[in-house]
Amino acid sequence: MHRRLTGRIVVATHNAGKLREMRELLAPFAIEAVSAGELGLPVPDETGHMFAENAALKARAAAVATGLPAFSDDSGLCVTALDGAPGLFTADWAGPERDFGKAMARVEHELQKRHVPDDARGAYFVSALVIAWPDGHEELFEGRVFGRVVWPPRGDKGFGYDPMFQPDGLDRTFGEISAEEKHGIDWSTRPPKALSHRARAFVALAEGCLGSDRNG
Ligand code: IMP
Repeated sequence: MHRRLTGRIVVATHNAGKLREMRELLAPFAIEAVSAGELGLPVPDETGHMFAENAALKARAAAVATGLPAFSDDSGLCVTALDGAPGLFTADWAGPERDFGKAMARVEHELQKRHVPDDARGAYFVSALVIAWPDGHEELFEGRVFGRVVWPPRGDKGFGYDPMFQPDGLDRTFGEISAEEKHGIDWSTRPPKALSHRARAFVALAEGCLGSDRNG
């Protein structure tokens, strides 16, 4: 049984790109979102072995620290020819300075090292969204978007690995499309239509926990 989310929630992230997308996703709902960064909460260690575990760690820590329901995303890029890497280490490949140019170059370097042909550059982004309540109740929702990694990276929109990820069915990368095209949701269709991994996970979350109190 899903639990209804209302009022004020903490968005348990310190990543500005993710925070912006989550705020845009939550905007149509009657939810006030404050971020873990704004509240000065510490960044918890991501010690899980799955995206869902790490999302739960982050959401739980924020819910316990604030007494509010907390909403967290753990996400990453999985490249098939690299056995799913960078996967859980997607953020780490950018180094402590969070240089995603360097992270994308590493993906390309690993592909070239393995002589991966052009038609075997399949990859997907995955997002695990967890809402944790202070009383210990938790809900998990997942979304994926399949596509391929391209080189050189293209576009300056979005964040992270967006310029090197081209979703199936588009000839542009996530770095070349608008925020609306990447994570806008068409609520008029059944099921609602969304492109990005995070937006797809959010659709499931909204249908489960946010009900129909949507304006716009
Ligand atoms: P974490 O979930 O905080 O461990 O970090 C996941 C990492 O995956 C981020 O730092 C981004 O680099 C990358 N990532 C997740 N979602 C996206 C996306 O929508 N576009 C580009 N990169 C992403």
